[in-house]
Amino acid sequence: MNPLRAVKGMNDVLPGESARWQKLETAFARTMALHAFREVRTPYLEPTSLFVRAIGEGTDVVEKEMYSFVHRDEPLTLRPEGTAGTARAYVEHAVHNSEPVSRWYYVGPMFRAERPQRGRYRQFSQAGAEIYGDPGPACDAEMIDMLVGFVHAIGVHDARVEINSLGAAGAREKYKAALVGHLTPLASSLSEESRRRLATNPLRILDSKDPRDAEAVRGAPTILEALDAEDVRHFDRLCRALDALGTPYAVSPRLVRGLDYYTRTLFEIKGATEILGAGDTLVGGGRYDRMIEELGGPSVPAIGFAAGLDRLLLASAADPAPRGAEVFLAPLGEDSSAHALVLAKEIRGAGFACEVDARGASLKAILRRANALGARLAIILGENEIGEGTVQIKDLAAQSQDKVPREGAVAHVAEKLRGARS
Ligand code: AMP
Repeated sequence: MNPLRAVKGMNDVLPGESARWQKLETAFARTMALHAFREVRTPYLEPTSLFVRAIGEGTDVVEKEMYSFVHRDEPLTLRPEGTAGTARAYVEHAVHNSEPVSRWYYVGPMFRAERPQRGRYRQFSQAGAEIYGDPGPACDAEMIDMLVGFVHAIGVHDARVEINSLGAAGAREKYKAALVGHLTPLASSLSEESRRRLATNPLRILDSKDPRDAEAVRGAPTILEALDAEDVRHFDRLCRALDALGTPYAVSPRLVRGLDYYTRTLFEIKGATEILGAGDTLVGGGRYDRMIEELGGPSVPAIGFAAGLDRLLLASAADPAPRGAEVFLAPLGEDSSAHALVLAKEIRGAGFACEVDARGASLKAILRRANALGARLAIILGENEIGEGTVQIKDLAAQSQDKVPREGAVAHVAEKLRGARS
């Protein structure tokens, strides 16, 4: 029989690796708390129409990457990103009525049927955040600066920020027309995909990696030329705030990103290029001032980002030491295991992780395992010890052993381990 395997592009995180995930998620949650974001949890499954409306029909995500299916006449999609569902929740619960500004964050799996490669999976994790109700640009700058600090703190030392402005609705339409005007005479030299996009989503041609498209785009007008006075003012103030924060950035007028919903501020943070190669975009984000209204809510400006945790994990250094049980209990003989369970419960009650190895293995085998897993203490409970009301506590690091009265065992463990933790 063929062994069953995970779905292609969807990875298991085994316990040896999950400690690194937890560390990354904790660092993210800490950053979020410092910036006064609160966590939101939305369903993994949403109505397909939500993503079509929010992300846009002509985007790669909606056109070819969604896991969609019809369940009892209801078209559903596994969320390919977090912004749409979060915005849906914001509108559905009329959150704007109870607070003028909301700062929300989320962490969790996303699903896209992409071609898997290093740092690109079909199930991957994003950590993201959204600010509703603040038109920026101060909060845009805060968000970018916060993210640079975060990726630096987790060990990415070559982070580079690129920013652009897509303007409000008017500028974008004006620019689309100018771009189509530039590219139409060159259509025959474009890639097939871009020729199609000339009609459906011309901005995406700027993202193309095909050298033919890059050549055609080289002399194209940039969106910065199409911005209106308010857009320009917004962008200038963003740049000035980043300057004041000392966050280096590059203005990248061809940055458009894959999703359709952005307005004004757009940014990407790249880094760990040596490890990730071309797929070195760690974080992407931008302002989407029209989405809340388009989803049936009031006119509320918004900005958000999503960081790819799988990539951040590949990019970040430092493995935390695997941490299992600090104390191993070795009951020797069948009658000892219940005693060991009781002592283990008391030790856990004092706040120390422990494991009872009651397989009936030899003391030598148990100690070998305790050493391999990095435990600090092993407690031996044989029939003799139980008979005389004692336990043997072996300090595996110091290679010493103490016989202590059973009633003093937890205090002895605590004393040894507090010293080891500090
Ligand atoms: P996006 O939602 O496309 O703006 O992507 C934001 C970030 O999520 C990217 O910069 C990546 O770090 C990460 N990301 C997007 N798609 C994938 C994927 N298929 N596999 C792993 N990470 C991804």
